[in-house]
Amino acid sequence: MVPSQASGPRPRVFSGMQPSGEAHLGNYLGALRQWVRLQEDHECFFCIVDQHALTGDFSPEDLPKRVFDLAVSFLAAGLDPERSVIFVQSDVPAHTELAWLFNAVAPVGELERMTQYKDKSAKMESIPAGLLNYPILQAADILLYRAAAVPVGEDQLQHLELAREIARRWNARFGDVFPEPKPILGDAGRIVGLDGGAKMSKSMDNTVRILAEPDEVWSRVRTAVTDPQRVRRDDPGRPEVCNVYSLHRHFTDPARLPDIAGQCRAGTRGCVDCKRILAESIAEHFAPMRERAAALHADPARVHDILHSGAARARAEAETTMARVRDAMGLLWRNAVPTP
Ligand code: SF4
Repeated sequence: MVPSQASGPRPRVFSGMQPSGEAHLGNYLGALRQWVRLQEDHECFFCIVDQHALTGDFSPEDLPKRVFDLAVSFLAAGLDPERSVIFVQSDVPAHTELAWLFNAVAPVGELERMTQYKDKSAKMESIPAGLLNYPILQAADILLYRAAAVPVGEDQLQHLELAREIARRWNARFGDVFPEPKPILGDAGRIVGLDGGAKMSKSMDNTVRILAEPDEVWSRVRTAVTDPQRVRRDDPGRPEVCNVYSLHRHFTDPARLPDIAGQCRAGTRGCVDCKRILAESIAEHFAPMRERAAALHADPARVHDILHSGAARARAEAETTMARVRDAMGLLWRNAVPTP
């Protein structure tokens, strides 16, 4: 029998994001925008996965602020605590407990084959065990809530497949508890940074904060790499290879796109003017979110309350799963051995 997801009329979804501080355009296009839409017809668990951040460079002094700033970005972007469970991973200890229990079935060979592990560990002299075991914790994050689906970028598909493998192996050995979560792939594809090459990320410093004021948006966007064949202002350009144009598709009024592409091809609008339109579109798109974020920063207790009650709801759900897991793995010895 294939175990079903947790009961409820809406399919359950889990997704997490590392607390790298305020969200940036890549986070928004690759995840947050889709998460906001998923709330319409899914039961969503959105988690700030602070324990995953421990496998990379982090400072204990900065981590709490990074968590808080990401929570503000979540709420400003439209994640709704009335409809979704929004919480911080370390507030629910069952994530790490389940990750440890999954060590019983997680195959080391598969962990070593993960592309992200190979890429990151290749640059390290001493590899922390957490880097290898990261996908086990990720599997625990998802399976703890018996999620039916997980919104993921293509670079996370391999980790999700491993989570499915862990669910299969655990179920085969201990009984059917975990459904195999399916991927929900976003429509944004790979979001390229302003440098025109690498994936957009804070660590590559090739992005824009979603809550940046218009001046800052412009100062970032004006540095964006464009079609390299366009050297002089009146050279014909190729919008289809220009990353500025691909960002226009996300943020600029669709009615203006034919004009932007046409003027680029004809060499009748310079890249600086084209970028200025993009910067204005981005700043305008995020204006309501900047307002919501300002209100949240003025009332931090509200953010605390939302995360507090989100964690309580998540813990209750996690406990339901863990009771079955502990029982199936023989860890409820008091129930099984009679008191003398
Ligand atoms: Fe890119 Fe715009 Fe310049 Fe064309 S005009 S190359 S779309 S920045």
